[in-house]
Amino acid sequence: MNILTLNSGSSSIKFKLIQVESHEVLAKGVCERIGLSKGQFSYEIKGGPSNKELSYLPDHNAAAQLIFDLLFKQDAPYQIDGFAHRVVMGGYYFNDAVIIDYHTIDKIRELAPLAPLHNYPAASVIEACMSHYPSLSNVAIFDTAFHTTIPDKSSDYALPRDIIEKFKIKRYGAHGISHRFVSMRVKEYFDNADELKILSAHIGNGASLCAIKHGDSVNTTMGFTPLEGLVMGTRCGSIDPAIVTYILENSSLSASELNEIMNQKSGLLGLSGLSSDLRDIVEEAHKGNAQCQHAIEAYSDSVKCNMGSMVFSMGGCDVLAFTAGVGENSAIVRTLACSGLEELGFIIDEEKNQNAAIGNGEISVISAPESQVHILVIPTNEELMMAMDAKRLLYGYQSLEF
Ligand code: ADP
Repeated sequence: MNILTLNSGSSSIKFKLIQVESHEVLAKGVCERIGLSKGQFSYEIKGGPSNKELSYLPDHNAAAQLIFDLLFKQDAPYQIDGFAHRVVMGGYYFNDAVIIDYHTIDKIRELAPLAPLHNYPAASVIEACMSHYPSLSNVAIFDTAFHTTIPDKSSDYALPRDIIEKFKIKRYGAHGISHRFVSMRVKEYFDNADELKILSAHIGNGASLCAIKHGDSVNTTMGFTPLEGLVMGTRCGSIDPAIVTYILENSSLSASELNEIMNQKSGLLGLSGLSSDLRDIVEEAHKGNAQCQHAIEAYSDSVKCNMGSMVFSMGGCDVLAFTAGVGENSAIVRTLACSGLEELGFIIDEEKNQNAAIGNGEISVISAPESQVHILVIPTNEELMMAMDAKRLLYGYQSLEF
């Protein structure tokens, strides 16, 4: 079965056409700069050319049309059996993926004020798929769905009840598709062990930790929005909320300007004053740049301190799994995040850590034999998770064996 996964952001649509049973990626690409000048469409087709086209992409509909033209026309030999859409905010409505009907799109739009940059474009792209290919089914896979098992004591914010209800404030979390993928890979690796306590560390440009107990998310570091929690590439993560009111009251910054600073100019970028990309920062740190050294330490320390919170939330930890751009590639951040935790059972084997190979999608074990906690590096694959969810819903498969 071939599923086309679509991941719509504020100015982009990423796609992958996946043969679900073999995990083979038949085609992939991205439309970028939607609504801006110099729109860009890059793609790779299996056994075919890589290509890059430039044209004005006024909206997500136009971008979706380019993807359709590539995959459904131009003699493309693809069978496509359904669409899987990533939807960031499923809020209080969705605790699992769903087959989409018009009622679902209304709900996705209703929730859009909680994730405006993602839910509105996702709804537009879903409508484009439904109107162009009415015989194919569409499945929505929500980033928040995995976290709907978090108990109220961990998902509630201590604000007055009327405010919570009026604004629908709660910890919705994010990165749920990736955390769930990691959890299933761990379960498979340990021979279908259901009872594990897993700490999933999805650390990249966006970053969050998730405490997974017996297969369920019981706590996560992202909150009402993805701004909460860890220091990230450009997001500040958790800060004293009084800092926000203090700056607003003592500067000419507007709320939206401060929001932009916290989301797009902070984190590694803010601390280093140089880049949000850890590779640039590591390079400069090696040359002796103190701000860059400090940025790496602050990023890693926020992972470590929040690991403590997640471990206590689930009452222990059997497996720590690093994933995403930094988690999969940066031995130094993994080392710093676990340093000093040896007596708590987190012992990295530095040679294995340096040599962790993730190229083939395989799991690398980087813990020492005496480590109480198994420490793994697991390449995430959100698109494969989405394609498998689509197959499960469309064809009623219960098992999600990889
Ligand atoms: P996003 O949240 O945008 O999906 P990713 O998971 O792709 O982010 O992670 C991007 C981050 O991963 C960047 O900071 C990048 O520097 C970092 N990264 C990727 N490869 C490496 C590497 N080899 N060493 C260190 N950091 C890396």
